[in-house]
Amino acid sequence: MSNTSLADSSVTGLKGVGAALAEKLSRINIHNQQDLLFHLPYRYQDRTRITAIGSLRMGQACVVRGTVRGASVVFGKRRSLLVRISDGTGTMSLRFYHFSASQKNQFRKGSEVRCFGEVRIGSTGPELYHPEYKIIKDDEVEPEEEHLTPLYPTTEGLNQTRIRSLVEQVLPKLNLKGALTEYLPLDILQRLNFLSLQEAVFTLHQPTPDISLEQLDAGEHPAQRRLAFEELLAHNLSLQAIRAEAQKDPAPALIEQHNLSAKLTEQLSFNLTNAQNRVLKEIRKDLARPFPMLRLVQGDVGSGKTLVALFSALSAIENGFQACLMAPTEILAEQHFNNISTLITPLGIETAWLVGKQNKKNREANLQKISSGSANMVVGTHALFQESVHFHKLGLIIIDEQHRFGVHQRLALREKGVRNGLVPHQLIMTATPIPRTLAMSVYADLDSSVIDELPPGRKPVVTNVISQKRRPEVVERVASACAESRQVYWVCTLIEESEELQCQAAEDTFEDLSRALSHLRIGLVHGRMKPAEKANIMNAFKKHELDVLVATTVIEVGVDVPNASVMIIENPERLGLAQLHQLRGRVGRGNANSFCLLMYSTPLSQQSKERLSVMRETSDGFVIAEKDLELRGPGEVLGTRQTGLIQFRVADLERDQHLMDQVNEIAQQLMINHPEVCPWIVNRWLPESKQYGQV
Ligand code: ADP
Ligand code: MG
Repeated sequence: MSNTSLADSSVTGLKGVGAALAEKLSRINIHNQQDLLFHLPYRYQDRTRITAIGSLRMGQACVVRGTVRGASVVFGKRRSLLVRISDGTGTMSLRFYHFSASQKNQFRKGSEVRCFGEVRIGSTGPELYHPEYKIIKDDEVEPEEEHLTPLYPTTEGLNQTRIRSLVEQVLPKLNLKGALTEYLPLDILQRLNFLSLQEAVFTLHQPTPDISLEQLDAGEHPAQRRLAFEELLAHNLSLQAIRAEAQKDPAPALIEQHNLSAKLTEQLSFNLTNAQNRVLKEIRKDLARPFPMLRLVQGDVGSGKTLVALFSALSAIENGFQACLMAPTEILAEQHFNNISTLITPLGIETAWLVGKQNKKNREANLQKISSGSANMVVGTHALFQESVHFHKLGLIIIDEQHRFGVHQRLALREKGVRNGLVPHQLIMTATPIPRTLAMSVYADLDSSVIDELPPGRKPVVTNVISQKRRPEVVERVASACAESRQVYWVCTLIEESEELQCQAAEDTFEDLSRALSHLRIGLVHGRMKPAEKANIMNAFKKHELDVLVATTVIEVGVDVPNASVMIIENPERLGLAQLHQLRGRVGRGNANSFCLLMYSTPLSQQSKERLSVMRETSDGFVIAEKDLELRGPGEVLGTRQTGLIQFRVADLERDQHLMDQVNEIAQQLMINHPEVCPWIVNRWLPESKQYGQV
């Protein structure tokens, strides 16, 4: 048995584990004996000591020992068996709703009973409902548990006792040579003041009674931190490995000629901001190197990312390569296509575009331009990466609003552009600010640039939080903005379960407003309309043929109508702050004073109030994202699809954020000083199928 790694020992090698049990274990991702060790308890109970009845606290899970004072069947709302016990410090009851006739007789007056349960306050004072219990014979000495009792995540047909007994079989092997190798070098363990891996694992399965339950519940015990750290490290190293792998391939070195860019600069009626210039410089430096750029550009809505992307595209084009820009929706792709063609057609550059809704003829024509290379700039949706698309010579891929893509998709995209062994550069732009610590774990394979400055003259959008009860005033406000020739967005938010209900709500609002403001031109756009229909309405709004646009959250991304200066958001409490911030970014794009009214349904919880007031207080997307992360967790910030891509066994991105800086630092050190252990650490924590490097 020695020298055998637990990772190579199947669970079927354990006593009592046959094919059926092995199958159940595999449902909770336990395949080998090491998996069992990393299957950590989600909670613990303290059964190591007896708690005096007089000192019980509500909600506490504890062991109590007492003398039976009486047992009787009582008839309240439901029939129950009630057993009174006392221990000299107080009296309490055990209550059973399901009980057998003989059960009552077990509780003979004067007998000793030992039980475990969670304390509630019932009609008789402190009570334990359906406790685990044992009647104690006169001379019997009942040994207490020696360690805190672990409760494991489990699956149907697999109870706690069973998992515990399996873990108990593996724990003694922990210290056998080669069973669970410590990969972190000694100097690092010492510097971080870490427990050994063996000690950490052992402690978490069988914590000694002196360890605080609160600390364990909060995931703050050093043993938990030790394991979470190593898991985060493994993810980080895995992403770094992809990055290293990706950068082994040659890419075209795109040296800036200042030829096209000078012409574009001449055309603009404004100068780039310092932040835009700085980021562009970073990008150009990457592009000039003969291996692929992998860069994430974050910038708040309106910070001018598109323009930075366009200048980058020009570097590719003037070197004889194509550039493509991929947007998440057709509306946005069309808008990019129009804006970009307007800017670069005068430079003699042809732009092609590709979206799902194009008719066959139009599509063929565009495909032709792309494959022949007559179009050097290509804009589109996911449609760009279908089989039928052949790029002539792709040098740069730009992805807008990338938080909707995962690392695997990111890699698949670049395969599309490989020609003669040359891999295209990748530039990824997102307007959802990603808190730094989160970025370090999710985007560790990317370099990052931040456009942290808005073009001059932008005025912050004045934001008010206001109750539905004041709806008439809000309608008044809409009327007066339109009287000044301004336009208004009225957004009906998502009702969680149902897009249908959301569309219904938008339709109702549309009708209400049409009645109340019959002199205004009001339009409606929602997710269940056909793309062409949607685009028509959006265009009409853009051309100021409509005064008010009632919309569902479909307008979130990208629409650009500088004359719109007021936004009403109904039931903002349903949305994440980052999403509200995105929506709000649709106004404040022109030179008028802009307003955003967050019209909540009463009553509003304290937490919702706090969240909404963040919107009133700041217009800094990063501050808002940090707050969102704090209040709603990483899933909300990144979008559920993204978080589905990262699954941790021990770590918790929210709870363990504070470890991230150090994880990053240690990852760098390991790669330089101990590169041989890196793949081992990755292997231990990420099964092969999940390793990012394996795509
Ligand atoms: P983002 O994609 O970051 O939301 P855009 O690139 O769409 O921002 O820019 C928003 C608007 O600001 C566009 O109308 C764009 O022409 C304009 N813009 C971009 N950069 C500047 C700048 N440096 N000065 C003034 N206006 C700018
Ligand atoms: Mg944009």
